[in-house]
Amino acid sequence: MSSRPNIVFIMSDDHAAHALSAYGSRINETPNLDRIADGGMRLDAAFCTNSICAPSRASILTGTYNHVNGVTTLATPLDNSLWTFTHALGDAGWQTALFGKWHLGHGPDADPTGFDRWRVLPGQGHYHNPVFVDSERGVDEVGGYVTDLITDDCIDWLEQRDESKPFALFCHHKAPHRTWEPDAKHFTMYDDVEIPFPDTFRDDLVGRAEVVQAVKMRMLDLDPITDLKATVPEGLTLDEEIDWRYQRYIKDYLRVVASIDDNVGRMLDWLDENDLADDTIVVYTSDQGFFLGDHGWFDKRLMYEESLQMPLLIRYPQHIAPGSSLLDIVVNVDFAPTLLDLCGVDIPEHVQGRSFAPLLGGGEVADWPEAMYYRYWMHNDGDHAVPAHYGVRTLTHKLICYYNDPLDQPGARGPANPIEWELFDLLADPLEVDNIYGTPEAAEITEHLLAELARLQATYGDEPFAAV
Ligand code: CA
Repeated sequence: MSSRPNIVFIMSDDHAAHALSAYGSRINETPNLDRIADGGMRLDAAFCTNSICAPSRASILTGTYNHVNGVTTLATPLDNSLWTFTHALGDAGWQTALFGKWHLGHGPDADPTGFDRWRVLPGQGHYHNPVFVDSERGVDEVGGYVTDLITDDCIDWLEQRDESKPFALFCHHKAPHRTWEPDAKHFTMYDDVEIPFPDTFRDDLVGRAEVVQAVKMRMLDLDPITDLKATVPEGLTLDEEIDWRYQRYIKDYLRVVASIDDNVGRMLDWLDENDLADDTIVVYTSDQGFFLGDHGWFDKRLMYEESLQMPLLIRYPQHIAPGSSLLDIVVNVDFAPTLLDLCGVDIPEHVQGRSFAPLLGGGEVADWPEAMYYRYWMHNDGDHAVPAHYGVRTLTHKLICYYNDPLDQPGARGPANPIEWELFDLLADPLEVDNIYGTPEAAEITEHLLAELARLQATYGDEPFAAV
């Protein structure tokens, strides 16, 4: 194994694993993303510790949970004096660059640090003719489509790099974030087909927490003009309108994913043409998952599987067997120590994640965690109405506590609501439609999961909600 491999870290925004054919998608094909899986490992239980953009990005960079790095919500910028693993790579001699979405704040205290070069979208950025903020050129606008432009910037930087040093390139796509605006090349893709509906599309949510039943992420909550780019046809029944909304939504989502797939193909081709594929760790992930009509929803935030799971494909021919997969639980906090480990760079003590590099190589880690901790802080953001909650997911079960309180977090709002719980048996009920919390049969597992939750909160230094 090379002691100083290159890194190409490609992260999209809101790309759910069930919209990659490598993960068995029933709704699209991603042949170029699948090249990463075919040449490396598909991780089947990679989870974010807070399913929302900025907090997940902060956990990836810092290797810490959000109550430690301070990025609990979308309204909490990343303090750019904090250590990130890109700082460590730079200190160890890697050339580093970031292109695309940053979304962790702007200005002297929040602009990217730990990168030799960066060129990022302000805030969410635009799909067409986007403005960039550039570490060398300031505010800069070029015509074109955002996913193509970010890839162009990545390849330009690679071609101008110092070939005597290893590189770590961060390619952070805006797509497929809302409002899902395709490029001309994919504008009419799927026009003549019906996209399959998910199994839980008509989930009535009976038995789930009241606050979950009330979230505003239903097809009827999509804006016809900005999200669906059309007016609702007249004369539809309610069910017909919901179906029509899903088709409008999911087709644009998949069209912008198709552009990501094409551009990932360009990056992989460039590595092949420059004889760098063998020496380069290629990562494809997304900051979290997304509901693709599952449970009748769009968006993320909740601890349900479609939102919790991150796609994670890693190719590194010198260490990872082609076409392999992994069932062990890994979380976004583990990414930083893992990549440092693969590069032979020391992992500081304060990092809370653990390196799963041995697992990538087909090895075992005797005490590898069998449970993960999750916390969503942004109670009732004023738009999606998702309640604050935390929970534990094991290999077989998930316990969620909706503590339902904004706790004065920036961007979180009232009102506080009574505490509610959900418990799912993921083996018997993988679609999470049967909340068994409070049933006599679940008493023993509930006790076990409550102890796990308390243990994880103590381990990571998070405070349980006082009234729980
Ligand atoms: Ca996101």
